[in-house]
Amino acid sequence: MTANIIDGKAIAQTIQEELTAEVAELKAKHDIVPGLATVLVGDNTASQTYVRMKRKRCAEVGIHSVGHELPADATQEEVEALVSKLNADPAIHGILVQLPLPGHLDEEAVLNAVSLKKDVDGFHPVNIGRLAMKGRDPLFAPCTPAGVIELIDRIGVEIEGKEAVVLGRSNIVGLPVSMLLLARNATITVCHSRTRDLAGVCRRADILIAAVGRAEMVKADWVKPGATVIDVGINRVDDDTRKRGYRLVGDVDYADVQEVAGWITPVPGGVGPMTIAMLLQNTVVSAKREAGLL
Ligand code: NDP
Repeated sequence: MTANIIDGKAIAQTIQEELTAEVAELKAKHDIVPGLATVLVGDNTASQTYVRMKRKRCAEVGIHSVGHELPADATQEEVEALVSKLNADPAIHGILVQLPLPGHLDEEAVLNAVSLKKDVDGFHPVNIGRLAMKGRDPLFAPCTPAGVIELIDRIGVEIEGKEAVVLGRSNIVGLPVSMLLLARNATITVCHSRTRDLAGVCRRADILIAAVGRAEMVKADWVKPGATVIDVGINRVDDDTRKRGYRLVGDVDYADVQEVAGWITPVPGGVGPMTIAMLLQNTVVSAKREAGLL
């Protein structure tokens, strides 16, 4: 069997087109322009690139974005004061604090300071708490996990009643994606560095989500034939044949696993593009909710 490839880039593009139409309609019918504020502290180049990409996508769909940059030595009070100001700004419907913050800052306190209603990244502890509770939907789900679910939905794979195995239990991916799958009535198993017989546990999965940050760890004999395999991992491996000296691979050995899986995401071009698409979607949802349209 050769797996169907899940084209995250194309799916994210479709979502972006849908959002562009929705944003145009919001403007035409209700004179509302969704607004996203980004907060970048320090000069981490990867973070700068992520923020730039997010703002570029905002511009493409018609979301108004405002970038705020603070120096690496900004104090806790300065960061929280900026967040408070944005909480009170009616033109801003979403606040994105780019993580990681410099080590001297209390990340949890900063995330706590973001208004629940503007928490488009879905990392506010109350939103995460609601995600974990039965019958209590969060206002926003974290973007990468939400992107994983959206991919599964868009290829038409049923989640309810399936055995889902999640490799990884981080706050930003593994844990929230597990909670989202549980909320959709999958039977979930969450694996981590202390799990015994990882291969055997993974082989039970109808839906396997890999989010460990270990290059090509998941092999074909870890995968049940026909399973849906979603690879969240992004890892650099040395590659002298590339100009930049490395290439990006996922947590799944793609060439090996695609012979067994039913569906598989490539890296890059799978989950990656979905993260920003979900951020844009959350921002539009926030603007509509604020206007009483949801
Ligand atoms: P973390 O390092 O925060 O978490 C990794 C998880 O994997 C932990 O729960 C850890 O277990 C577990 N783990 C690590 N090694 C093993 C192992 N050998 N066997 C079993 N479990 C293991 O990573 P993140 O969740 O932040 O990210 C995971 C991957 O996803 C990374 O490659 C990252 O780059 C990528 N990523 C991609 C995004 C996208 O947009 N596509 C967004 C965010 C992340 P334990 O808890 O016991 O330590």
